Amino acid sequence: MADKITMGADGALQVSDNPIIPFISGDGTGVDIWPAAQHVLDAAAAKHGKTIEWREVLAGQKAFDETGDWLPQDTVDTFREYLIGIKGPLTTPVGGGFRSLNVALRQILDLYVCLRPVRWFTGVPSPVKHPELVDMVIFRENTEDIYAGLEVEAGTPDAKKMIEVLRDAFGWEIREDSGIGIKPISATGSKRLIRAAIDYAVKHHRKRVTLVHKGNIMKYTEGAFRNWGYELVREEFADVAVGWDDCGGKPGDKILVQDAIADITLQQVLTRPTDWDVIATMNLNGDYLSDALAAQVGGIGIAPGANINYVSGHGIFEATHGTAPKYAGQDKVNPGSLLLSGVLMFEHLGWVDAADDIYRGLEATIADKVVTYDFARQMEGATEVKCSEFASAIVDRL
Ligand code: NAP
Repeated sequence: MADKITMGADGALQVSDNPIIPFISGDGTGVDIWPAAQHVLDAAAAKHGKTIEWREVLAGQKAFDETGDWLPQDTVDTFREYLIGIKGPLTTPVGGGFRSLNVALRQILDLYVCLRPVRWFTGVPSPVKHPELVDMVIFRENTEDIYAGLEVEAGTPDAKKMIEVLRDAFGWEIREDSGIGIKPISATGSKRLIRAAIDYAVKHHRKRVTLVHKGNIMKYTEGAFRNWGYELVREEFADVAVGWDDCGGKPGDKILVQDAIADITLQQVLTRPTDWDVIATMNLNGDYLSDALAAQVGGIGIAPGANINYVSGHGIFEATHGTAPKYAGQDKVNPGSLLLSGVLMFEHLGWVDAADDIYRGLEATIADKVVTYDFARQMEGATEVKCSEFASAIVDRL
């Protein structure tokens, strides 16, 4: 008998050894990577006496073909009810009423954290000399910023109205042929994101949390994010963390909360990776930073991600790449991103031993140079295997 994952009164997830977990296999290469990832996740769970009852829900092209709806209400309701789910990549509908299904799911469930851990696995081809020095965890705010979708198109009546309001009420002169986007950054949104990052640092014995921003230019949005972060440390984390200015950069045995400008961050994650640990940042900066960092450790074929609301308990773990339609159904692409998102989900559920087994199995497989095409083309003497064969090779090494 399988059980629902629930949120306990103490704010921690209650997870049995037989949880029900909804999944979306995904469009395009989803048909290849989902079965491969599931094979490994099931095998690792079984090793530790656990069984997952996977419950398929539909979204994307498959949902549209079967129900006429890109994101059926039943799918949203199921994720809402069972708290934790996992998904493959989805086709973004053109003219379907959504900017993106991923964004829609994040907004509907208020999944305010986009969590992207970035670490290197032994043997994975990388463009840098010391990928092993990269071990960072990005907390990207998911609901605000210039990504909130508050935009008007140049030349439309709405843009004209907006330009008039800004001129009349604020005296701001904006060219008549401008499109305009709004960048809301709130204390509420910033603090809950930074709170999640510091909580994570405490739980995982991390040493630093860096608030990444462009507050030198955008003072009342990105600068405010930084200020609210330091305020939060004083208000809620004084026993375990300290802001740079409050300790002169000498935190003792507490977690150091510091800040950095986004442009210099993009240089230093590359040139001094060991200076970086947990990163908390807004939506747009986080988007750039997570893909840049993923490239340092092997690219999007292997980068995991999750969207989480730590208060409600909802979380959707997802492949960070797209549907790669040219490879769909060829049993060819790397299932690593979806698989590692599943491993991240195991860690989130407290299934750390099963997660560690998969990390070891994956590293052993890559060390044996048994890899999918994307790694094979960058490695000397590799054996290129199919997506499903790569999964079986990991299971053999669990
Ligand atoms: P993409 O699907 O991510 O593919 C771009 C390239 O990334 C591929 O051509 C391939 O590179 C590489 N790649 C992707 N998945 C891989 C994997 N599993 N293993 C190894 N390499 C992989 O991006 P796109 O072509 O721009 O987007 C296609 C569709 O996906 C669009 O409809 C887009 O809206 C959607 N999308 C969905 C999500 C999501 O659901 N999270 C995210 C992004 C895009 P090579 O050609 O070098 O082999």
